[in-house]
Amino acid sequence: VIRNIAQLLYWGTHYSGANKAWIKYLLKKRDVKLMLNYHHIVKDEAFVQNLTHGYSHRLSAFDAQMAYLSENFKVNTDIDDYNSITITFDDGAKSNFTNAHGLLEKYGLKAWFFLNDRHLDTSPQRTLWVDEMYEWLSHAKTGSYAFGSFSKDLTNDNLFEFEQHLFDHLVHNFDELDAFISFIRSNTHFDLNSNADRFAPMSLDELAHMKAYGHELGFHTRNHYMLGSISSEVLANELVIPDYLKNVINRSEVLSIPFGIPKTVNSKVFQEIFDAGYKTILLNEVRSKGADIKGRINVVNSSELPKISSYLARWPLFLFER
Ligand SMILES: [Zn+2]
Repeated sequence: VIRNIAQLLYWGTHYSGANKAWIKYLLKKRDVKLMLNYHHIVKDEAFVQNLTHGYSHRLSAFDAQMAYLSENFKVNTDIDDYNSITITFDDGAKSNFTNAHGLLEKYGLKAWFFLNDRHLDTSPQRTLWVDEMYEWLSHAKTGSYAFGSFSKDLTNDNLFEFEQHLFDHLVHNFDELDAFISFIRSNTHFDLNSNADRFAPMSLDELAHMKAYGHELGFHTRNHYMLGSISSEVLANELVIPDYLKNVINRSEVLSIPFGIPKTVNSKVFQEIFDAGYKTILLNEVRSKGADIKGRINVVNSSELPKISSYLARWPLFLFER
């Protein structure tokens, strides 16, 4: 009964527009920054419900969301402006340029784009390992899989368990990542080119175009490792912006943390990031840990509704948890 009442209240605030007034009130009243975090924006006809769909959005849904945000809220790239909503993208997928940028331009919106140099046109790997892992898992055939020190059977009913095991293995054994990637590229029927548009990286020319338009470009570490499970030496290297990117990235004082999961990223990691010269850290968690460690709403696919308003309606509830 309580659950039904809560749902009634939730949808009631959504459809009456009360949530919009509520968010506007809180944006003015509370010193909490509201930031949204996106990843892939995919053309409707190319959108498939596989394992990467959770952090992908249809172009039409993104269009409706941007229309709603630009009509109802102040949207800008000032991450210290507590009266505005800020849009961010992580991982540097080509769809950020080919699909998202055009729509942002259509509504006169500017956003932040956080880049991994492993996932740029200039890198030998060219794909982000997380994307490649989920794409492979979406098509993997049952059987025994082994690379490096990993070994596990994939059956018809253990995909979720297999994924958890594989992900956990990779984030604790990053030295085996290249072995995993070459294993799936050469020993399985996986064809990354079948879905190349979805996983291709941006080029430096495209990034220059976006920067000239007025987007902000920041860093998301070199290899997208889980920062809480690597040594201080590896972490130090992950935080260094390579020379060729120094002219591309214009906001090198802000770091977006990969995965952004605080339980693996402890205060020691935060301190090492600040020691490396960063002034602000962005998480993928809703709640901020202070003015210099800011939370973001990870806009996942379960929130892919014609209008983002129903998802934002949940945001004030997070505030009351503080
Ligand atoms: Zn990321």
